[in-house]
Amino acid sequence: MKLYNIIDNSEQVSFIQATKKGLGSKQGLFFPMELPELNSDTIDSLLRMDFISRSCELILSYVGDEIVSNDLKNCVKKAFSFPVPIKYISNNISCVELFHGPTLAFKDFGGRFMAQVLSNIIDQDEKITILTATSGDTGAAISHAFHGMKNIRVVILYPKHKISTLQEKLFCTIGDNIETIAVESDFDTCQSLVKMAFNDIKLKKLISLNSANSINISRLLAQICYYFEAVSHFPKEIRNKLVVSVPSGNFGNLTAGFLAKSLGLPIKRFIAATNINDTIPRFLKSGIWNPKKTVSTISNAMDVSHPNNWSRIEEIFSRKSWKLKDLAYGSVRDEITNSSMYELAKLGYISEPHSTIAWHVLRNNLKNDEYGLFLSTAHPAKFQDIVEKATGKKIILPYALSKCSTLPTLSYSIRPKYKILRDFLLRQSK
Ligand SMILES: *Cc1c(COP(=O)(O)O)cnc(C)c1O
Repeated sequence: MKLYNIIDNSEQVSFIQATKKGLGSKQGLFFPMELPELNSDTIDSLLRMDFISRSCELILSYVGDEIVSNDLKNCVKKAFSFPVPIKYISNNISCVELFHGPTLAFKDFGGRFMAQVLSNIIDQDEKITILTATSGDTGAAISHAFHGMKNIRVVILYPKHKISTLQEKLFCTIGDNIETIAVESDFDTCQSLVKMAFNDIKLKKLISLNSANSINISRLLAQICYYFEAVSHFPKEIRNKLVVSVPSGNFGNLTAGFLAKSLGLPIKRFIAATNINDTIPRFLKSGIWNPKKTVSTISNAMDVSHPNNWSRIEEIFSRKSWKLKDLAYGSVRDEITNSSMYELAKLGYISEPHSTIAWHVLRNNLKNDEYGLFLSTAHPAKFQDIVEKATGKKIILPYALSKCSTLPTLSYSIRPKYKILRDFLLRQSK
């Protein structure tokens, strides 16, 4: 698999290099040179396969022979070790639950697959540092996926007091090779600190930096797989009228959806659903790129106003000659998210804020002859207080959350200054 840097096209790398590097020069994202297309017979037979075998085929169609197919199969098997159920919501709407992994959000797919691939491709004596920013759920997925891996140091930045207590407990109580830093600012600042570290060539050499953000291509390839799994559950007559609504923040999830469609997966159209951090909805409406200051919401994992993966979506649209005007969108403010959680509960489905936003926009956008599917991206228990308040229903914590909820938080706290982060990174890893 060859990939090019979207900003500096002359930089070309293999899948393994792209996974190790994360981000290209000039902060450009890597994008596949070739976008494979499978014919409808192949798609049909893929949709009949089991999740693991199909996922291997899909990832192989991009990666090619860079990874031995048996090794890849092991990575996929270890990474995707949990179910992906479809839940019926109403007449013409269902959702696919992507939160049955160990950290209860869809980030487990990408995080766990990336960890498997990296541990497969780094040399015995190679030491690397994974530096990543999280708006809430990536931190947990990455920490759990890399915990205890030899020669890998993980440093995670998150916006202080801007993620839920349970989200924080899930990854800031682990210790060992996992270090967590609460930055006194918002997610976009955390993301830009990470980018500064990647631009710091000296530092990069000294500690062999890698990013596990959704900018890492291995995470996106993993995410293609659950779109296929979701569609495989529907009968053929529904497949061609499927409208998929994706709760979006950094837009990695939606990018993976478009990569799935570009492979030939029959999805009629997508909806980009955001909270009031609505850079993309406003851009799609007006054509003007005008990010505002990030605002804290109850769907904190989507509190992003500079969505990193957007350049990949533009790239795929231009490569496929698709039209951005066909991408539907909507943004939802907290008040409506809360009342929508209540409405969903009345329909018999307890959902958390992010997924609820996707449902709300989908319901308003769906046409009569269409069938709606929204992605349920996190377990409601991760947002226990908010969900209980909105729905009036008691949420029982799953074991993954209850066992860490009383452990001490081990995070460092820093002001949002690059020099402070740099010094921290250069300190001997424990
Ligand atoms: C990360 C996250 C999102 C947003 O996904 P992107 O790929 O960043 O657009 C939505 N919901 C939840 C629960 C998340 O953790």
